[in-house]
Amino acid sequence: MRHHPIISAAEAIRPHLSTLLGEHAESVKTAVEALLNQAKQGQEIESELLDLLGKYPATSAWINKKLAEENSLSKGITLSYNELPGERGPVSGAKYYKCPSCDYRWTKILDWQTPPNCPEDGSALVEDN
Ligand SMILES: [Zn+2]
Repeated sequence: MRHHPIISAAEAIRPHLSTLLGEHAESVKTAVEALLNQAKQGQEIESELLDLLGKYPATSAWINKKLAEENSLSKGITLSYNELPGERGPVSGAKYYKCPSCDYRWTKILDWQTPPNCPEDGSALVEDN
């Protein structure tokens, strides 16, 4: 049996159907199981599964989340990423410097950094905190 992501998602959702669907759970569960059986026999039922589980907001949301997780796992992508320092807002402990003669600004991110002179006019930068 091929492991299409929607097939694994449908297998994974089965125990949650009664919580997700309440009174609709039994009929959906029966339909899901029938489709999974057809999949075991090599039939292409992925779109039927998606139609079935996409009918209800609760199952649709659950499947989407599951597929997104599988997708990121299989590609080795993590959802969080490291932002570059200074890219978005101040880094804690950063010091800001400005040129007294023009609008040049420079941010000190690491302790060992020495403020440069202004590249425009050569003035020594002053702290601007
Ligand atoms: Zn300057």
